[in-house]
Amino acid sequence: MPEKPLVAHSLAEAYLYLMATPCASCGQGLLKGSDARVVSKREEGVTVTIAATCAACHADTTKWFLLPGDLTSEEKGETAIVNPTDEPSGILDVGQWIMLFRMITEAAAKETDKTEARHLGIEAAQCLEEALKFYDDVDSDLPPSEAFFTDASRNRLREAPEQFSKRRLIDLRAKLPSMAAMRASVSVRKKKRWWRRRE
Ligand SMILES: [Zn+2]
Repeated sequence: MPEKPLVAHSLAEAYLYLMATPCASCGQGLLKGSDARVVSKREEGVTVTIAATCAACHADTTKWFLLPGDLTSEEKGETAIVNPTDEPSGILDVGQWIMLFRMITEAAAKETDKTEARHLGIEAAQCLEEALKFYDDVDSDLPPSEAFFTDASRNRLREAPEQFSKRRLIDLRAKLPSMAAMRASVSVRKKKRWWRRRE
């Protein structure tokens, strides 16, 4: 029997999960995912498997994801939408989204192709949005304990709480161009799938 699928809001979120999840064998390397394979389509969603290989120890693993709706609709978009709902992710926690924001922002800064850099910018902005979905509206500048799923993120909160400041994240978001402006600037979508660029 396969393991219970991870419930994601999109294929993009599933690949970001692979990017942010360390290898179960060596605890190090990033998992590099191959193309998703559709296993079943039911009313509750599409189940896909993604075979992944650790970039450090080369161990192979397969992850199962349950995605809403029809996968093909996602491929039509100019830039993959990570999560169109207000509901925070159930598979990536606040710390992982902040880490992804930083990783993708750094990749965008190094990218020489302007269009690609724009796409990365949109992805980074979406990671920041996902992190912000975990914060309570009132009270605290730090996320609630339910926003943490991993020990790595809890440790990071202890060591560097300033990275989790809601005010800081909102300031970062304010420096980014608006999502609408970014989307308008990248009207021509390349054929290459977006997660391929980071291989
Ligand atoms: Zn490994």
